[in-house]
Amino acid sequence: MKAEPADQIRLLDLQEIDSKLAQLAYRARTLPEIAELQRLDTGIEELRGKVAATETELSDLDREQRKAESDVEQVRSRSDRDSKRLDAGQVSSPKELERLQSEIASLRSRQSELEDIVLEVMERRETAAERLAELRKELADSEAAREAAEERRSSAALEIKDEEASYKERRERIAAEVPDDLLALYTKLRDQYDGVGVAALQYGRCQGCKLALSTAELGQMRTAAPDELLRCEECRRILVRTSESGL
Ligand SMILES: [Zn+2]
Repeated sequence: MKAEPADQIRLLDLQEIDSKLAQLAYRARTLPEIAELQRLDTGIEELRGKVAATETELSDLDREQRKAESDVEQVRSRSDRDSKRLDAGQVSSPKELERLQSEIASLRSRQSELEDIVLEVMERRETAAERLAELRKELADSEAAREAAEERRSSAALEIKDEEASYKERRERIAAEVPDDLLALYTKLRDQYDGVGVAALQYGRCQGCKLALSTAELGQMRTAAPDELLRCEECRRILVRTSESGL
């Protein structure tokens, strides 16, 4: 294929921009904030689960405490009733008197046991409430960290988008000046060879595959017409001669 030397140089400019665009796309995909957000999301999900479980535990303990308190109340009121009967002197039979006194004694001991249960439940409830407060704080901190990371991610992404837009604009201007067949060949090779379709020949070396050309190849290139489109023997990319080619 034939191509004006100026158009060949334009291809190098296009390649530079395309490589830059590929780098920007890579940077956008691999922003550190993306991994950070994933890590934070996992932590937040885990914390939300723990908060929900602790809330359930706390409401179970509330119910347990109310039940234990009502048990105490029941025993206490029965023992009060017995005591009143005793104090009022309503009981005259010694056998009944003994039964009542023994019942009061056993109710008091039962009440004391139930009061211990209330205390124990209250302690467990307090521990759970403290843990819930800690978990809620940890969750709020993680959510705040997520928001900050999201803000950083979004501003970095915007910056990349702006840079991309300016490169794309330049690219469009340059591409418009390159003949269609040359542009099509470049695009095909670029897609085929890892994003690089054209390279400069620099001091006898192809900048696409970084290999030095043989003396024979260099000799052929030295005598080739300036508008002849050269290809690297090694990597098959378009090879462009510049003032630094060492020919
Ligand atoms: Zn090469």
